[in-house]
Amino acid sequence: MSIGTLTTKLDAFFAQNSFDEPHLAIDLDKVASNFKNLASALPEASIYYAVKANPEPQILSCLKDIGSCFDAASITEIKLCLSLGIPAKSISFGNTIKKQGDISQAFTLGIRSYAFDSEEELQKIASLAPGSDVYCRVLVDCAGADWPLSHKFGCSTTMARGLLLKSINLGLQPIGLSFHVGSQQTQISQWDNALEQIHDIYKDLKEQGIELSTLNLGGGFPTAYNAHVPSIAQYGGSLSAALEKHFGDNCPKIIIEPGRYIVGDAGVIEAEVVLVSRKNAEEEKRWVYLDIGIFSGLAECLDEAIKYPITVVGKEADTNLGPVILAGPSCDSVDVLYEKFNYQLPLDLKSGDKIRIHATGAYTTTYSSVGFNGFPPLSCSCI
Ligand SMILES: *Cc1c(COP(=O)(O)O)cnc(C)c1O
Repeated sequence: MSIGTLTTKLDAFFAQNSFDEPHLAIDLDKVASNFKNLASALPEASIYYAVKANPEPQILSCLKDIGSCFDAASITEIKLCLSLGIPAKSISFGNTIKKQGDISQAFTLGIRSYAFDSEEELQKIASLAPGSDVYCRVLVDCAGADWPLSHKFGCSTTMARGLLLKSINLGLQPIGLSFHVGSQQTQISQWDNALEQIHDIYKDLKEQGIELSTLNLGGGFPTAYNAHVPSIAQYGGSLSAALEKHFGDNCPKIIIEPGRYIVGDAGVIEAEVVLVSRKNAEEEKRWVYLDIGIFSGLAECLDEAIKYPITVVGKEADTNLGPVILAGPSCDSVDVLYEKFNYQLPLDLKSGDKIRIHATGAYTTTYSSVGFNGFPPLSCSCI
């Protein structure tokens, strides 16, 4: 399927349904096939879907049915998973910043796997979730990621080594390390770099009699927003080779936490053009205002980080195109989607035209405000 086209199911859905407000539709078959493609690209890994990418219950149930585990970032996400019959042992509490009350609740609900990246967090887990499995997130290079998670999470490898040792004295079970190379990471070698940085800890601790059973390679697997994204098979091959290079026959159990890759290209938003205008008559570039913007689901357009393919319904084959600046409907000047990147749309584009914003299944619905300026949050159908 080429970029900017719809699956048969999504095509039929939008042909049969029209919406007064922007609407996201998710093809669950595509969610399942993405999961399966990733599983076969990296067969040694257990997959923990990062719930935050899109927590629609039908998506979680679909993934549960095909063998996914889940990475939850909050007590609400944990409860949502449990309410769908996902067993507590298949859920990991992956946020390194947790309120005490939330750790206690998670422990009561049966969650036994927790991430940390600081001494205080480790102490909290030790007292509120005694005896649990813990893994330490390390800080790695996120260069090459379109949506970097930068330096907010993770500690140095030296600190991680010390904290893992300490966790034993606190009565916890240290299971290993985790890292995240940044979301939409198109530089595959960043996983190899991260493994280079951390593999010694597994050897060092083994010499001290501590076997770290698990290694969590995080998320970062990309959605193909454009033609330059390597295939998932290339990611799988490259990561397997890197694991072999750094661990040989002593490879720990591998976990990955994909979010974007699983749901990104399974979703398409249909929205509407509200106004096409020029700031002065001579200007070639038109301003195109949509009924969806930064505050109603397209937060990842900030700094033009994620560049979604955009098509106009009924004008997909139009070759009479001209440059546009795309903006949202709200009264906030931050609400400009694309100004630097040169989007081209049909010259006869006018208000009322329907547009499709492709590959918007990840990080859209939950990023939309509850109603800034009275514009409603992004609605979603799973089909
Ligand atoms: C957000 C997040 C993920 C998912 O990242 P993607 O880039 O969407 O694959 C995985 N793990 C953790 C800890 C996260 O915070």
